[in-house]
Amino acid sequence: MVLVLVEQAAGQLAEPSAQALTLARGLAGGESLDAVLIGEGDGLAAQLGRHAVDTLHAAAVDGSYAPAAWAAAVVELAGRLSPTALVAAGTEVGNEVLAHVAARLDLPFAANCIEASAGDGARVTRTRWGGSLLEEARVRGALAVLSVQPHAVAVVEVDAGDAAIERFTPALAEADLAARIVEHVPAPSGGVSLVDAKVVVSGGRGVGSAQGFAIVEELAGLLGGAVGCSRVVTSAGWRPHTDQVGQTGTKISPELYIPCGISGATQHIAGCRGAKRILAVNADPEAPIFASADYAVIGDLHEVLPAISAEIRNVRGT
Ligand SMILES: Cc1cc2nc3c(=O)[nH]c(=O)nc-3n(C[C@H](O)[C@H](O)[C@H](O)COP(=O)(O)OP(=O)(O)OC[C@H]3O[C@@H](n4cnc5c(N)ncnc54)[C@H](O)[C@@H]3O)c2cc1C
Repeated sequence: MVLVLVEQAAGQLAEPSAQALTLARGLAGGESLDAVLIGEGDGLAAQLGRHAVDTLHAAAVDGSYAPAAWAAAVVELAGRLSPTALVAAGTEVGNEVLAHVAARLDLPFAANCIEASAGDGARVTRTRWGGSLLEEARVRGALAVLSVQPHAVAVVEVDAGDAAIERFTPALAEADLAARIVEHVPAPSGGVSLVDAKVVVSGGRGVGSAQGFAIVEELAGLLGGAVGCSRVVTSAGWRPHTDQVGQTGTKISPELYIPCGISGATQHIAGCRGAKRILAVNADPEAPIFASADYAVIGDLHEVLPAISAEIRNVRGT
């Protein structure tokens, strides 16, 4: 049997969990597929049925997200069910919980898989180095622990009946609840979000200062887009981390991405690979960003950006 840790949002199966279920179903082959959820799971029976899940095991864990407690619940259930593979979505939560699970069971953990097949453990293809490298690996052991790279597997549903729901209350130690979320602080947002924006204008070290972002904000505003930045910028404290595009920031896929004064390090490109078009503004004609760009403007961004904004205003007559 293959067991999948699923996540929900407002009573709906989270999309990355649906993707993980599709990959897990292929991995299960003729074996059965069960799911585990931390929480109630009411209303998920039909949704999970469409992914051929036999039984949803709903763990009663009081309070908010606590990675060690969630892992304890999954480990307890895995001990009872003896699955051949344990799969989760490669989200922040999925990867963190499975890392705890693997550590508790002294097993390897293959994160961010995009393909998996059974055979002497599991054979997987997974993304490394922020998506710039695909690794083929064999995960040995009685239990293969893997997470599924979000948005890499197309969801396929099947025509099957509702999943059964079985509730259980895992035995938790006090230490399992030592690290937990105690407060949610909404990120400050000024309109359109980075993830949803059709246009993103980003600034890097070349912008020079926090105040320098005024011209980046102006252009983003005129294009109805969002402002992003590189890690140098967040490290310098010019912008909040929520604005960072890249491997350790937000992964974006706008229609148009305009990186300004950004060199184009692989860790930055990892976050904007999904952009349909890239228009790079950089003073250095040799800047690596141009290798990823569809359009290049070679020049000082402090002159180029105001000129573009002025031209937009001019054309619009505003
Ligand atoms: C594990 C790890 C994770 C990382 N994650 C991320 C991440 O998520 N996102 C990220 O961005 N980085 C990330 N980095 C950092 C990354 O390697 C680079 O250091 C960073 O992206 C560089 O930022 P930058 O392009 O703004 O600065 P620089 O590399 O210093 O480039 C500045 C650019 O600005 C140009 N420039 C200067 N002045 C002007 C001007 N007046 N007009 C026009 N152009 C000008 C220069 O020609 C240069 O190309 C990560 C690094 C590591 C090791």
